Amino acid sequence: HIDSVGFIGLGAMGMWMVVHLTEKLPATTRLYVFDIVTPLMNQLFEKCPHKVIQCANAKDVADRSAIVFTMLPEGHHVKKVYLSEDGICSGDIAGKLLIDCSTIDTASFLEVRDHIAKLSPTTSFYDAPVSGGVIGAKRGTIAFYLGCDEENNPELPMLVELLSLMGSQVIPCGGPSLGLAAKLSNNYLSGIIAIACSEAMDMGMRSGLDPRVLAKVYAAGTAQNTVCDRFCPVPGVYPEAPSSNGYRNGFKVQLMKKDFSLAVEMAHNVEAVNVLGGAGLRIYEGASEDVRCKDLDSRVVFRYLGGVED
Ligand code: NAD
Repeated sequence: HIDSVGFIGLGAMGMWMVVHLTEKLPATTRLYVFDIVTPLMNQLFEKCPHKVIQCANAKDVADRSAIVFTMLPEGHHVKKVYLSEDGICSGDIAGKLLIDCSTIDTASFLEVRDHIAKLSPTTSFYDAPVSGGVIGAKRGTIAFYLGCDEENNPELPMLVELLSLMGSQVIPCGGPSLGLAAKLSNNYLSGIIAIACSEAMDMGMRSGLDPRVLAKVYAAGTAQNTVCDRFCPVPGVYPEAPSSNGYRNGFKVQLMKKDFSLAVEMAHNVEAVNVLGGAGLRIYEGASEDVRCKDLDSRVVFRYLGGVED
C-alpha cells in the first residue's frame, strides 16, 4: 500500500503522467507535486483537488512522499532538483524510492546517484526515461526504459507495478544509467532513420516514384521500419503522421537535437563507432534553428534537407 507519492516537473509529459496517477492510485493516496511554474500546479490542483497537494519546493515533496518521480528537461535541472539547498537530498531521504524519468546524460544521473548512495544506503534511485511522446503520456501507453537488473532486484515487481500506472511497457535494461543509455541509443537510431528515409524517398520521388508506392516497397522489403511508415517524414504518405498534418503534434525537432547530441556525446565517451553522428547532429542543429522547421515534429528534417513537398 502506497499512501504518498511525489512528482516534480509538470510539463508536457509530467502533467499527463500525474493525471494517470491521480486516476489509478487508491483514493487515499496523496500526490505531492511541485513545478517552478506555479500555474501548472494550479491546473493540476483544479483537476483533482482531493488528491493533489501543491508543495513549496522539491525538498517539501520528498519530505512528504515515500516515492518521488522527477520529469525534468535536462541534466542540470535534475542536479538542481536533487542536490540544491531546497532539493530532494537536503531532507531525510532514508528508505525512499526515487525515480528520474527525464532524458538526460548518464554522467549527471550517476553524479546524483553517487551523492544519494553516500547520504543513505537505504534509498533507491533509478533512471526510467520514457518513449512514446506527449500522445503516449496522455494515453498512458509510454514505454519505460528502466535502469535496473531484471534478475537480482527484489524491487523490480513493485517498480513495474508503479510505472505501469503511467505506461504500457517497462523494459529493465540491466543496471543503473542503462535505461538512459538505451533511450539515447534508441533516439539516435530513430533520428538517423528519419534522415535516411528522407534522402531515400527524395531520390525515389525525383526519379518519378509516388512516395506511397515507396512506403509500400520499404514495408515489403528489408527497409521496413516505423519511421518510414507511421512517422513517414514525407507528407501525404501516412494520414496520421505529423508530416501529413503540417508536422504538428509530434516529437519536437529541438528535443531530437537534445537527445541526438547526448547520444553522440555518449558514443564519444565510450569510444563507440560513430560515423553518422556528426552529420546527423549538424542536420538536427540546423533544423532546430530554421524558421521553417523549429517547434515542428523532428521528421521535418525532410523539409530541412530540401525534400520535394507538394
Ligand atoms: P517540459 O519542458 O514540458 O517539462 C519540464 C518541466 O520541468 C517544466 O514544467 C518545468 O517548469 C519543470 N522544471 C524545470 N526546472 C525545474 C525545477 N528546478 N523544479 C521544478 N520543476 C522544474 O518537458 P517534457 O516535454 O515534459 O519532457 C521532460 C523530459 O522527458 C525531457 O528530458 C524530455 O527529453 C523527455 N521526453 C519528452 C518527450 C516529449 O515528447 N515531450 C518524449 C519522451 C521523453
